[in-house]
Formats: sequence, C-alpha cells, structure tokens
Amino acid sequence: MKRELHEPFIELEGVTKAFGANQVLCGVDLSVGRGEVACIIGPSGSGKSTVLRCINALTPIDAGRIRVAGLQVDAAHLDAQALRQRVGIVFQGYNLFPHRTVLQNVTMAPLQVLRRPRAEVEAQARELLARVRLEDKLHAYPGELSGGQQQRVAIARSLCMRPQVMLFDEVTAALDPETVKEVLGVIQDIAADGMTCLLVTHEMRFAREVADHVYFMDGGRVVEHAPAADFFAEPRDPRTRAFLDKVL
Ligand code: ADP
Ligand code: MG
Repeated sequence: MKRELHEPFIELEGVTKAFGANQVLCGVDLSVGRGEVACIIGPSGSGKSTVLRCINALTPIDAGRIRVAGLQVDAAHLDAQALRQRVGIVFQGYNLFPHRTVLQNVTMAPLQVLRRPRAEVEAQARELLARVRLEDKLHAYPGELSGGQQQRVAIARSLCMRPQVMLFDEVTAALDPETVKEVLGVIQDIAADGMTCLLVTHEMRFAREVADHVYFMDGGRVVEHAPAADFFAEPRDPRTRAFLDKVL
C-alpha cells in the first residue's frame, strides 16, 4: 500500500541508549511520515521495544534527537503528559483494570487525565468499541474476554485519548492464531484511516501487506530499511536475509 509522502512525523537521529554496560541502541535513525505505517522487525534483544519506549519518553535517551508529533522528546522541558496524549502505545500485555468494565477502562483516562465531559467521552468510547467490534461487550469485565478481545479494548482505550501517533509493541505475540487476525485487522483499519503507526511485529505478512516501510534492527542498529515491497523482495544485508530465512 503506497501513500503520499509527508514530512516526518516520527523522527529519530543518532539515538543511543545504554543500560549500564549494555549498549542497547547504537545510533538509531528512523523516520515515519505523517499517515504512514512502518514496521520494525528483528531478533529478540535487538532494541526494538527500547526504540518505542524512547519515542514515548518512557525511557530517557543518552544522545541523539527524537521528534514526534511536533514535540522534541529529548528536550529538557518536555511536557510528558502532552507527549503521551499525542502518542498512544499498546503493549503485548493488555494491562486493563480487572475490576473495571470495558467501557470504564476505555473512558478512564480521558475523564481523569484530560477531564473531558463524560457524555462526550462515553459517546466516543462506544463508537471506538463498535469499531473494534466489541459493541456487545461494553459492560463485560476483562476477565470475561479472550486475549484478542482484551487487546482490542486496549487499542480502543488508547484511541480514546485522540492520539496523533500509535505505537504497537508485539501486540499479537501472545494471541492464538485465529485472534491474531482480528487484532491485525483493527490495526489495518486504523492505518487506513490515516493514523501514523509504528509497529514492532513478528507478523511478516502484515508487514509486507500493510507497512509502507520496514526497518530491520540487529544489535541496537538499524541494519536495513526499505519500502516494504523492496525489503521483502530483495533484502540486501546478510543479517536481514538470515533473519527472514528463519521466520518466513
Ligand atoms: P527487543 O524488543 O528487540 O527484544 P529490547 O529493546 O526489549 O529488545 O531490549 C534490548 C536490550 O536492552 C536487551 O538486552 C534488554 O535486556 C535490555 N533492556 C531493555 N530494557 C531494559 C531495562 N529497563 N534495564 C536494563 N536492560 C534493559
Ligand atoms: Mg520487545
């Protein structure tokens, strides 16, 4: 799927990060245009989750620059709340509140953090839950839902903050094969609506079909990046080829 190229909406330049003696990011450059979908793939431990966490200022960087949705993430006086409203993140674990209903889980942050009016937030939450095909589960508790349904609640919850960018970290990794599809379908819908999306994923078919660009990371570096079609048709770096041979 080819989109018109826009100015970078997520941009990392020379980002480095160490945890003690472990140099986890060694100068990462990455750029995602507004409305684009990019996937990061690569072996376990290569720094993929750390990249997403740095973009959302959950992990402070050592050096380099990060700009996202018009904010300078590495700035000394970053407004972390403004950043996290603009940048939604969904992880592998759903982290829903077990003693709150689906509707309450989705409306909690917009009501309590953004202090938006309840009627407006609930109307939006119902719309989002219909969009992720959970309109019949508004009053269910997370424990009554399948993993795929819980993950769709987590996505709706994130969207209810009206983000400008969505980050997804292996959101389907813990799901059964049948439910993987329904969650990827929801992400594909969100992307088709023009949301800027950056995903860490092991779903190569999804990356090939939905992403505009694919980044391959190994050892804290972006080893290769290319438009998705080229990336899978002609991987250049031997490390990329070895990885694809294993997973495809
Ligand atoms: P990936 O998502 O590609 O599997 P990660 O970004 O999670 O990789 O991790 C990259 C490296 O950083 C790993 O060696 C991991 O152990 C280390 N790491 C990640 N987060 C922390 C942390 N909070 N403290 C110490 N080491 C960490
Ligand atoms: Mg990870």
